[in-house]
Amino acid sequence: MIRRSTALLLAALLLYSAIAVVYGDSTYTVHNGVYVGEGRGCYGPIKVGVTLEGDKIKDIQIIEHNESPGVGAVAAELIAEDIIKYQSIAVDAVSGCTKSSNGVVTAVKEALKKADIDITPYLRRPDTSIVKVRGRIGKNADIVVIGAGGAGLAATVSAHQNGAKVLVLEKMPMVGGNTIISGAAYNAVDPKRQYAQGIEDSIEKHYTQTYEGGDRLAKPELVRTLVENAYPALEWLESLGMKFKDEIFTVLGALWPRSHKPEKPLGTGYIDTYMDYINKHENDIEIMLNTRATELIVENGKVVGVEAENGPNTVIARANKGVIIATGGFSANVQARNYYNKIWPDLTNLKTTNRPGITGDGIWMAEKIGANLIGMEQIQLLPMGEPGTGSLSGNIEQGVENRIFVNKDGNRFVDEGARRDVMTKALFQQKDNFMWVIVDKHSYPTGDTKNNFNETIDQLVEEGRAYKADTLEDLARQIDVDPANLIKSVEIFNMAVDKKIDDPFGRTLFEHKIDTPPFYACPRVPTVHHTMGGIEINTKAQVLDKEGNIIPGLYAAGEVTGGIHGSNRLGGNAVPDTVVFGRIAGESAAKAE
Ligand code: ADP
Repeated sequence: MIRRSTALLLAALLLYSAIAVVYGDSTYTVHNGVYVGEGRGCYGPIKVGVTLEGDKIKDIQIIEHNESPGVGAVAAELIAEDIIKYQSIAVDAVSGCTKSSNGVVTAVKEALKKADIDITPYLRRPDTSIVKVRGRIGKNADIVVIGAGGAGLAATVSAHQNGAKVLVLEKMPMVGGNTIISGAAYNAVDPKRQYAQGIEDSIEKHYTQTYEGGDRLAKPELVRTLVENAYPALEWLESLGMKFKDEIFTVLGALWPRSHKPEKPLGTGYIDTYMDYINKHENDIEIMLNTRATELIVENGKVVGVEAENGPNTVIARANKGVIIATGGFSANVQARNYYNKIWPDLTNLKTTNRPGITGDGIWMAEKIGANLIGMEQIQLLPMGEPGTGSLSGNIEQGVENRIFVNKDGNRFVDEGARRDVMTKALFQQKDNFMWVIVDKHSYPTGDTKNNFNETIDQLVEEGRAYKADTLEDLARQIDVDPANLIKSVEIFNMAVDKKIDDPFGRTLFEHKIDTPPFYACPRVPTVHHTMGGIEINTKAQVLDKEGNIIPGLYAAGEVTGGIHGSNRLGGNAVPDTVVFGRIAGESAAKAE
């Protein structure tokens, strides 16, 4: 829980006053003071302090919340600002953050009720029509970047370091994209950290696992660019101030212990690092939020700018040197993923781990002007979605080595260290496409130990998103699986840890046995996670047309591109993809004539 201004607020609470004011013939009561209310956000309660002055909402403090950093947390602040601006709680939810927005609205409503005032005036929808006059905004920069996620911001910093002035267009009201909510694992062959842990590795092994793990469908030169530059790009992030933990782990589907974890939660470390740089260079870098790119502007065969929508306005952004597309994949576009899907059962009703803005816009814009698309049918599902939301949050695994999966009968059914597609296909064979992740105290030495999504295990258990027991038998009873089966599954797994041979499933990644209470379980279902296909690029991140020619002025980086991961992206390879190719795109575009 994040606590802000609590002391100040308590002081203010003591000062609130109901003052009777005589005005003409009538007397009314002014409820000056700070009133506290609570609502429910995405990940627990949101508590606000509403300052009333003369029955006007003067200020709203978000006192306590557990919304995602950089996403729900930003939305909560934006909604609070709107409520103050319009003196209304009937404001529109922040796009993609409905639960966080509603949580603040409910909390403010409760606070107003406590103030014992007539809340009817605050329920009126604000009249925003006054600003809806259509206009045209002209912009000019050396480079226009579309999308302020991991790849777009890496490209922005890199382009600026190479001497360019940059304009970034982002359709959401905040930066960060999927990158900021990702598990943030970063695969790189690391001469220091892996060596310190006695982990043998090589660039060649990373290359082979990535290429073979994607069924040799990736472009070899792009795989090589990724694996060779992953560690230098990590050092580049460090040079910008980013901190990684010393301990190396194996993220789900990474196939090898070379995953790095940032010190900051989720993907906030990457985005904060880029934004710190960008904020220091605001004379040369502009980010336009709520600005959706719609078309690439092409003149004489060269991409020279972008057309975008910003509220009622049309933005014409001219680029002297080039345009970089970094709009992410299309996992949140049900129509597109159904159109391209050839591998999975119908994806209509599956949830996604992605944010709602990840609809493939950049892919369609590039295709429209002749870019080649590759691997579009390669859609990655994870076996790790939270039932109901599809989100990765609530997942209790800390790494591959120390957890098993069991189905509704309490039986293991797959090598839990396998490729992501292999595990998800196996999950589709289980009853209700449903499984439990089982861990023990080794993963959570204390109740306040956090998972990879900044949630403590105590919090998850309290919210009913995970289960805890002192015996496997009790755990089985709580999650309604056959206790004998669960106990047997764990026993066989523990034998495999001893022998380093997993007879039934061939698993090779082990560390501790599951033998130390408390034991924990959390439910998981398949969820749409990553689209490996997209715009074809070369090793300089230049976009290619259907004949393999470079499209002048156009670059792409990150999940919007194809050809880097083949049929299956290794866990932990997406973030280095955004950093490596974002960095290259920025440099290539800045150095263009
Ligand atoms: P990557 O991991 O490849 O960097 P992300 O998902 O992190 O991708 O970021 C993609 C960003 O692009 C998101 O912030 C998303 O909102 C933004 N975006 C998507 N489509 C558009 C568009 N048409 N105009 C501007 N921004 C867009």
